[in-house]
Amino acid sequence: PSPLGPTPKLVIDLERLAQLPKEKAGALARYAATIQSQRGDYNGKVLSIRQEDLRSLAVIYDKSPSELTEELISWGVLDAEARRAVESF
Ligand code: C2E
Ligand code: C2E
Ligand code: C2E
Repeated sequence: PSPLGPTPKLVIDLERLAQLPKEKAGALARYAATIQSQRGDYNGKVLSIRQEDLRSLAVIYDKSPSELTEELISWGVLDAEARRAVESF
């Protein structure tokens, strides 16, 4: 096991996401809205997503998963802990 503890979750900040320009964040916002709808999870300020979903999003954004993670951290949509979630890919 990692000395830093279990792999952290990928937690999207939905309020921050809603503030970002559509050109940047539109695809992610649609993806998150789809997951919320599939789960019936509409009231959250945050949304935990699957590691698999970050892989899919990286394809959509034409980046590697770690590049996309850095971008989402710089936007304030993921926190820095997310780096460790992606290291295990
Ligand atoms: P599914 O993948 O067949 O999952 C069925 C149910 O198993 C989910 O119902 C949920 O209660 C549970 N489940 C599956 N994987 C996990 C997990 O990693 N953590 C937790 N806490 N529970 C899990 P739910 O939430 O109503 O989702 C219904 C369907 O919506 C899912 O069926 C899946 O097709 C889709 N879905 C929901 N959330 C996600 C997501 O984050 N990513 C993707 N790719 N699909 C999702
Ligand atoms: P946590 O995973 O650290 O989540 C803390 C709080 O963030 C949750 O409190 C909830 O308010 C919010 N949150 C995180 N992910 C989501 C999300 O995808 N949708 C929404 N709507 N809110 C989210 P909450 O619900 O009282 O849960 C407290 C703790 O209970 C969670 O801490 C976690 O340890 C556990 N828990 C809750 N749901 C699940 C689950 O589906 N799977 C697992 N493994 N643990 C869960
Ligand atoms: P979590 O619920 O704490 O689950 C942590 C990890 O345990 C998941 O990481 C996945 O690898 C595994 N796991 C949990 N439940 C299931 C399951 O029913 N089927 C399978 N095959 N694996 C399961 P993952 O996939 O990266 O998901 C991270 C977090 O995203 C989950 O933490 C949960 O908070 C959320 N999540 C993912 N899928 C769903 C879903 O379908 N419904 C809901 N409500 N939450 C989900």
